[in-house]
Amino acid sequence: MKVLVLNCGSSSVKFQVIETSLDMIEADTDRTLARGGVEKIGLSDSRLAMEVPGRKPYQEIAEILEHRAAVERILRVLAHPQQGVLSAASEIEAVGHRMVHGGEKFASSVLVTPEVEAMIEECVVLAPLHNPHNLRGLVAARSLLPNVPHVAVFDTAFHQSIPPRAFVYGLPYELYTRHSIRRYGFHGTSHRFVSIRTAKLLGRPLEDLRIITCHLGNGCSMAAVDRGRSVDTTMGFTPLEGLLMGTRSGDLDAAILPWVMAMEEVTLAQLNAMLNKHSGLYGISGVSSDMREIEAACKAGNKRAVLAFEIFCYRIKKYIGAYAAAMGGVDAVTFTGGIGENSPLVREQAVSGMEFLGIELDQEANRTTPRGKETLISRPGSRTAVAVIPTNEERVIARDTVRVLGGVMPSFSVPGNEAPR
Ligand code: ADP
Repeated sequence: MKVLVLNCGSSSVKFQVIETSLDMIEADTDRTLARGGVEKIGLSDSRLAMEVPGRKPYQEIAEILEHRAAVERILRVLAHPQQGVLSAASEIEAVGHRMVHGGEKFASSVLVTPEVEAMIEECVVLAPLHNPHNLRGLVAARSLLPNVPHVAVFDTAFHQSIPPRAFVYGLPYELYTRHSIRRYGFHGTSHRFVSIRTAKLLGRPLEDLRIITCHLGNGCSMAAVDRGRSVDTTMGFTPLEGLLMGTRSGDLDAAILPWVMAMEEVTLAQLNAMLNKHSGLYGISGVSSDMREIEAACKAGNKRAVLAFEIFCYRIKKYIGAYAAAMGGVDAVTFTGGIGENSPLVREQAVSGMEFLGIELDQEANRTTPRGKETLISRPGSRTAVAVIPTNEERVIARDTVRVLGGVMPSFSVPGNEAPR
């Protein structure tokens, strides 16, 4: 089955066409036929780019004013006689949509119906920066491809198995009952995918393993995956909490915020920008939010870059300890995302001195990890395995689409894990 995967942002639409089926999922042989995106939607010089394996990248610049026009353009280029990969857009048999926030309503991926669409709409208040754009893409794609099923895959769904003791904040309880303020967690598709792949790489059943997954990209989060189920994660009500990130602060004493507002006379909007755009690796180093540039600045002796790097790795280490405690032990630590997959230095620092948890890194394997390959980087005798697993969120979305349509989508809702209302 050819599945179109859509990921709609405020001014962008990313897409992939993935050929997959239940058998191909089992054999891990599903493949990407084309990938690309439209950027700068709403401007006169919007850019559509597409890559097809084995071909020269294709690009066109033209005015694309809104999401519907972007999806329309994507469908046209996919079915173009020269650049395309489909004989007609009607070859697309299903569409998988990335949805950032499913609130407490969605514990797994779902077929989009008018009721589901209304429920997604209700989650907009929880992710006002993301869900409206996701929804806009969904509405556009449904009107352009009305005869195929559409499936919504949520970043938050995998973490709905987290128990109340890990998701309720120490705030007045009415904030939870009235406004649903709680930990939701994000990057769920990635944490789920890499935990499943880690078990495959180790040749052991997922149901026997306690895995700590570290998704380190521009946004960073970790999850404690206990026998296949997320039981804790570092991101919270929003993607701000937890690890240090490219431009986000991660954990901090919340009392700093009113203090800064008073002392620096900043507005709420400025405070938000400070936390999300001017903090993290960038804020501490003053150099960059990009780990490659941080590492280069460290080599050149920039002390603030060194500090930013150390804080970044230290937080990962701290959470490995915390999540080992949460699960009563750990069998594997898995790294993924742009930094997790490509930075031997971060991986080494993050697990250094953790022999007490049975973690023994194979320094050579860590330094020479082949790009894009699932690799074990712990020593053969290491009690706790350390793995590098390239993530592929689009593939998870395509797979979930097939699974939902095939009626085999496992539900991740855990009876009895709700907090009292
Ligand atoms: P996003 O979260 O936007 O999907 P990615 O997963 O692509 O981002 O990760 C981007 C991060 O990966 C950047 O900080 C980038 O510097 C880092 N990265 C990519 N390649 C390397 C590398 N070879 N060494 C260190 N960091 C890298």
